[in-house]
Amino acid sequence: MKVDINNKNLQKIQKEKDKCIGCKLCMNGCPMLCEFCNSPKDILEYLLAEKKVDHKLPYSCLLCGYCTAVCPKDVDLKEMFFNLRENVVSETKGKLPSDLGYTSIKFHQKNSFSRLFRTDIIGLEEDSDIIYFPGCSIMALALKL
Ligand code: SF4
Ligand code: SF4
Repeated sequence: MKVDINNKNLQKIQKEKDKCIGCKLCMNGCPMLCEFCNSPKDILEYLLAEKKVDHKLPYSCLLCGYCTAVCPKDVDLKEMFFNLRENVVSETKGKLPSDLGYTSIKFHQKNSFSRLFRTDIIGLEEDSDIIYFPGCSIMALALKL
């Protein structure tokens, strides 16, 4: 799905494009840039020309900040991708495309407090000071042991 990039983000992208010298240092340790471009400068130019972004691009960025840390020109790709995510959410009114896998997260968020997945604490003494709450990952830990 392609969404319109708002003016504020277009201005930010222009600013980052002007700073980028295309040295590709950021690509050495980035898990996603190589999938989308030969240089971040290409992405920035493309976004400015199209004025649209495919939702997969900003949602492929892990927002890890590696690129920002190594960039000699202080190009902030992490912030830009984060802003583009906000842009996508705003344009889609939060109804993100299903290929992002958001449906299962939404299901979890909606149902994790329902009676279906909830249980009452049995045997909790009224004067207890400490409660052991292992969280939902305890099953995975138990399997590993
Ligand atoms: S490290 Fe910075 S200047 Fe170099 S290509 Fe990446 S974003 Fe551009
Ligand atoms: S913040 Fe995004 S673009 Fe930058 S290195 Fe991490 S995954 Fe790559």
